Amino acid sequence: MTSLLRADTALEPRVRGLGKSPTMAIQERSEELTQAGRQIFRLGLGQSPFPVPLEVVETLREHATRKEYMPVRGLPALRDAVAEYHRRRHGTGCSGDDVLVGPGSKELMFLLQVVFSGELLVATPAWVSYAPQARILGRQVHFLHTLAAKGWRLAPEQLESICRGDPARPRILVLNYPNNPTGGTYSAAELEQLAAVARRYSVVLLSDEIYGELHHEGMHVSVERFYPEGTIVSSGLSKWCGAGGWRLGTFAFPRSLRWLLEAMEAVASETYTSTSAPIQCAAVRAFQGGLGIERYLSNARRILRTLATSITGSLDAIGAEVERAAGGFYLFPSFAPLAEALRERQIRTSEALCERALEETGVAMLPGSAFGRAPEELVVRISYVDFDGAQAMAAAESIPADREIDGGFIEKYCGRTVTAIRRLCDWLA
Ligand code: PMP
Repeated sequence: MTSLLRADTALEPRVRGLGKSPTMAIQERSEELTQAGRQIFRLGLGQSPFPVPLEVVETLREHATRKEYMPVRGLPALRDAVAEYHRRRHGTGCSGDDVLVGPGSKELMFLLQVVFSGELLVATPAWVSYAPQARILGRQVHFLHTLAAKGWRLAPEQLESICRGDPARPRILVLNYPNNPTGGTYSAAELEQLAAVARRYSVVLLSDEIYGELHHEGMHVSVERFYPEGTIVSSGLSKWCGAGGWRLGTFAFPRSLRWLLEAMEAVASETYTSTSAPIQCAAVRAFQGGLGIERYLSNARRILRTLATSITGSLDAIGAEVERAAGGFYLFPSFAPLAEALRERQIRTSEALCERALEETGVAMLPGSAFGRAPEELVVRISYVDFDGAQAMAAAESIPADREIDGGFIEKYCGRTVTAIRRLCDWLA
């Protein structure tokens, strides 16, 4: 009997593949070097250093026996808590019916791309996963490249000029602020201008506000305020609650986009079904907030703020260009002013810069090319979170809320990150 699979074709790859992500490459190389006994500073990975707030962990413990499948849209009490959170924070008219809960906002973004028929606009530098998700689905992404000189912010004219060419085309624009990788954000006035263009051309805004609570001054403003009927607000537990591995993300939709929520719900029902039951129960507590969580956030913000200022000062001093951080835990310096000296050391791309920095200083960072920028731009993302967040948080607790955290605190409790930046700057200078 002949085989149904002919020998010459049976093992041919039949996958729609992606290249290995630069994030993984740098991780693997860091691991190899650590195994070989080298001291590696992990400024590559974007993970909150802080522990999950105690009251949220307690709630998870209490609900460990919850084992049932949950409704596809999410636990009703959680959807209500998320809606109430958005009303409290942004004064919006969100209700539990407008909320979709998923296993991470990343998965929800993927579902959105699965169901939405239209063009995807992404401003660069952009978080590493938007474009590969599109590629998995065979979608086109239209990149809108922003400029360092403009603080890496998308100008309303850029959106206008894309839309004007084909005004009736359905579009989604992903806006992420505070931004990964730049650490920057938009002012209310800038958001209002972008919202006006989006409204003119009925562009749906996917407002990725996963770092919103980590705005360093606690002053995050959502674009939803200026374009409520066209904005989906994406959030979750991963960053402000330090619970990336818990996998819980949320989308809050306007009433006018209920059809999109329902389409995503249908796909979710055929794929992951629902988000983990105990995690959803614990998330209710997180979104309810309260004094303990406010104190936790305020401490996280002042540690990150002081650390970002200190690092920015060091990078400025060696002649790098770096946008002031407004939130989150990233900086995105450009070493273009040092290009000549770097070229003499055979470093011509952001990838080469990261590879050589890792080999020669032990500092792991991600190249700008991973965020949709041209390799020769010599920009890198620094994730300034290689320190013991539990220890730093405990120490911050004992400093009165109205006092700033100082450089001494940063040296003592964020020492690994400070040392890494010092090594990097010495090496560059
Ligand atoms: N958006 C941005 C900008 C991010 O940095 C991340 C996490 N790295 C996500 C979305 C995804 O977060 P999660 O899936 O954990 O909710």
